[in-house]
Amino acid sequence: MTAYDRDNIFAKILAGTIPSVKLYEDEDTLAFMDVMPQAPGHLLVIPKAGSRNLLDADPAVLAKLLPVVQKLANAAKEAFEADGVYIAQFNEPAAGQTVFHLHFHVIPRHDGLPLKPHAGGMADVELLKAQAEKIRAAL
Ligand code: AMP
Repeated sequence: MTAYDRDNIFAKILAGTIPSVKLYEDEDTLAFMDVMPQAPGHLLVIPKAGSRNLLDADPAVLAKLLPVVQKLANAAKEAFEADGVYIAQFNEPAAGQTVFHLHFHVIPRHDGLPLKPHAGGMADVELLKAQAEKIRAAL
């Protein structure tokens, strides 16, 4: 497998060298809004430890990450009064991965509302900040 690239865009978000709309942080984990949301409330959860994706991640890192995914999935579902939550995670380009730092997508879903395309249009940052605030309030 290709080695982890320390200059990937999520590593830069972790380092604070590029901006993001953050909504949760602990010692091991960061969550922020996806800039190209497939539905309102689309967020990403990443470990602070570097791995390219799930395939090369330390199981101890995964064990800490999944409870945060669950917490944020429940908060996003409540905040957006969603009917369900779609969790997605891609490994390698063949599977649709475009950013090579492990991340879980958390996407609130409503009955009958189709998802927008993956990595489609950029969202307004002020809107993302308001959505992050709504999710934080439900945590
Ligand atoms: P994938 O690697 O296919 O799971 O997708 C990476 C996701 O990261 C896409 O949904 C992008 O919209 C999102 N993304 C890319 N750059 C940024 C960024 N700077 N801040 C937040 N989300 C991003």
